Amino acid sequence: MKPAPFEYAGPRELDEALDLLAEHGDDARVLAGGQSLVRLMNARQVSPAVVVDINRVPGLDTLGLFGDNGSSTLRLGATVRQRTSELSDEVAAHAPLLAEAGAQVAHAPVRARGTVVGSVAFADPSAELPAALLALDGLVKVRSRAAERTVAADDFFTGPFRTSLAPDEMVVAVDVPVATGRTGSAFVELTRRHGDLPVCGAAAVVGVGDDGRVSHVRVALCGADERPVRVPAVEAAVLGADDPAAFTEAAAVAADGTSPIPSCHGSADFRRHLARVLTARALRTAFARATSPKETTDA
Ligand SMILES: Cc1cc2nc3c(=O)[nH]c(=O)nc-3n(C[C@H](O)[C@H](O)[C@H](O)COP(=O)(O)OP(=O)(O)OC[C@H]3O[C@@H](n4cnc5c(N)ncnc54)[C@H](O)[C@@H]3O)c2cc1C
Repeated sequence: MKPAPFEYAGPRELDEALDLLAEHGDDARVLAGGQSLVRLMNARQVSPAVVVDINRVPGLDTLGLFGDNGSSTLRLGATVRQRTSELSDEVAAHAPLLAEAGAQVAHAPVRARGTVVGSVAFADPSAELPAALLALDGLVKVRSRAAERTVAADDFFTGPFRTSLAPDEMVVAVDVPVATGRTGSAFVELTRRHGDLPVCGAAAVVGVGDDGRVSHVRVALCGADERPVRVPAVEAAVLGADDPAAFTEAAAVAADGTSPIPSCHGSADFRRHLARVLTARALRTAFARATSPKETTDA
């Protein structure tokens, strides 16, 4: 099929893009990498009257460190491609979870166009990058013509393909606090075929104190609920642990309270099972990487 007729706008300034969103609201859609939007338009699942292509807006391709001491936060602008993030030395050094999760998105040609922010804004409950952003304690930078605000990733995802964005707002960047001390991370998933969206995936960030015990931990899941979710019960159970065996026990509650969306790719029960198994695996790998940085696989 072909999309319904629409008007194409290619603004050259951010204000111009924001004016278009303010003017057209729900009738407009931002076009970033187009890897999801164009497919939905072709299937006429969405039919915006105006498509606002942000790819020529200067400054949205920022990828780098900033902050009070010049290095506390990693920022990825709205047109940074998933492939650019995956191959970036700065992402590898300061937010390796983003690179590891990003490398598991689709295939390289899709990632060469698709953007990190586009994936976050699209909010597919099975997608890798929103879960990674949650585990990294990320922030979503939002702009409209009238205001700008910063939303914690925890508050950004509100349901399947739903976010707290208003129709006149767009995401201009995502920010990730730079990890300090002995920190390891891991993203693991199960897909039906290489490059498919995961049936379920788990992201873990583990910080280890001088005493060898877990001092900081965040775990997030995709494919396990109607939106990417954190699992605070697992995080609480893991704090203070110094033995990877504790992670398997803690992960037993990873699926408690989740409401997975069943599909032909996996029943709700299967997704709950995966949530437990993948959480344990992500935690073990993240811990191993925190305690012996050369570790790369499941311990
Ligand atoms: C064959 C194929 C396989 C795929 N497999 C996977 C996979 O395994 N895992 C996965 O996570 N994804 C997968 N995807 C989706 C892919 O990652 C997309 O790139 C991503 O979902 C959307 O990013 P985009 O930049 O292409 O956004 P677009 O398609 O341009 O936009 C997607 C939606 O987000 C909105 N949007 C985009 N940017 C902004 C912004 N800055 N502010 C506000 N709204 C915005 C758009 O209006 C639109 O509604 C796959 C896609 C294809 C074609």
